[in-house]
Amino acid sequence: MILRSLTLDFFRNYPHFEGKFSPSVNVIWGENAQGKTNLLEAMAYLSTASSHRARYDRELIQFGVDHAFVKGKVESRERMFTLEARLSRGARRQLLSNGVKLKTAGELSGVLNTVLFCPEDLWLIREGAAVRRKFLDSCICQLRPKYAEALAEYRRLYEHKTRILRDWEEHPSLLDTLDEFNLRMAQTGALIIHYRAHFIKRLGEVTPTIHRDFSGGREVLELGYETVSTVEDPLAPARTILEQLLDHQQSHRKAELESRQCLSGPHKDDLAVLLDGLSARQFASQGQTRTAALSLKLASREIFFRETGEWPVLLLDDVLSELDGKRQEFVLKRITSGQVFITCCEEMDLSRLGSARTFHIKDGALVG
Ligand code: ATP
Ligand code: MG
Repeated sequence: MILRSLTLDFFRNYPHFEGKFSPSVNVIWGENAQGKTNLLEAMAYLSTASSHRARYDRELIQFGVDHAFVKGKVESRERMFTLEARLSRGARRQLLSNGVKLKTAGELSGVLNTVLFCPEDLWLIREGAAVRRKFLDSCICQLRPKYAEALAEYRRLYEHKTRILRDWEEHPSLLDTLDEFNLRMAQTGALIIHYRAHFIKRLGEVTPTIHRDFSGGREVLELGYETVSTVEDPLAPARTILEQLLDHQQSHRKAELESRQCLSGPHKDDLAVLLDGLSARQFASQGQTRTAALSLKLASREIFFRETGEWPVLLLDDVLSELDGKRQEFVLKRITSGQVFITCCEEMDLSRLGSARTFHIKDGALVG
């Protein structure tokens, strides 16, 4: 996948932007607060219809303006696509591919996929399980549309069951539907566990090699899947997992009613990351967690390529400046395939990026 060009109108601090990009490495440089991250955010938006740092679309629209437009020309599956996002303060956003309105944001991922790595990704290793689930979910959703459907269904069921558990004492008749919800949650949950287990298996094959090279052969990274305790083998067929999830629900029924919370199911899953046999979350240094997080992201991109034959566009925000020379070299060697956008500050020595195309950003505009 190659983002050939991008046009922005009133997106963040850009009144207007037009850029044509190299199919290999593009460097976006400038001082702090000039719009480098905003540019990567716009690119990522064309693939996910969401932003890694904005909760609401309206944050993306320029202050004092009512609409914003993002348009990209993308080469994908040997065809050209024009993707557009029209954002509005007063109305629903519109997404279009070749002028045709899209029904769901998921349809964008059939055309453009991006893998973004930004300073906040340090949290991927450090924070609670929710961020790692989000990482897994976004990877699997882009690869398997059926997973995205199952996940959306699971979330609906979860919310409904949570309401039942919250209100059952005031409205005991709600309990009449609990078994039905439990069964549907276990069915959808089994599917989710099955997909997650297979993806983590792939990730566990690809990430350790990347991480080993990245750390100069010093560190051994391992991954594990932590899911519902009764599931013996998460790689088993979904119907086997279903039985085990029903067992878990049964044994937690009383506790769920008493705590009024949904305690059973894959909504508490985690991706365990171990470095040299120790939990990276608890014991790794800042540099190690950064390297491990980047290894995971690069691995997800490679898996996507192996499965689809297309490289997702790689967006590296502020990554190089934080790494030592050796690790910088490693990243630059690792990203020779597919299209890459790298942001950095003015002071960085760009000579080692060789043939990269450079874009100097100043105050929401391209200056050269
Ligand atoms: P750094 O090197 O510090 O990461 P950057 O070049 O990546 O900087 P961005 O985060 O892309 O900077 O841009 C930040 C600028 O964009 C800020 O000055 C901010 O005020 C401005 N900005 C953010 N949202 C909007 C908006 N909706 N309308 C106008 N300007 C905005
Ligand atoms: Mg930035």
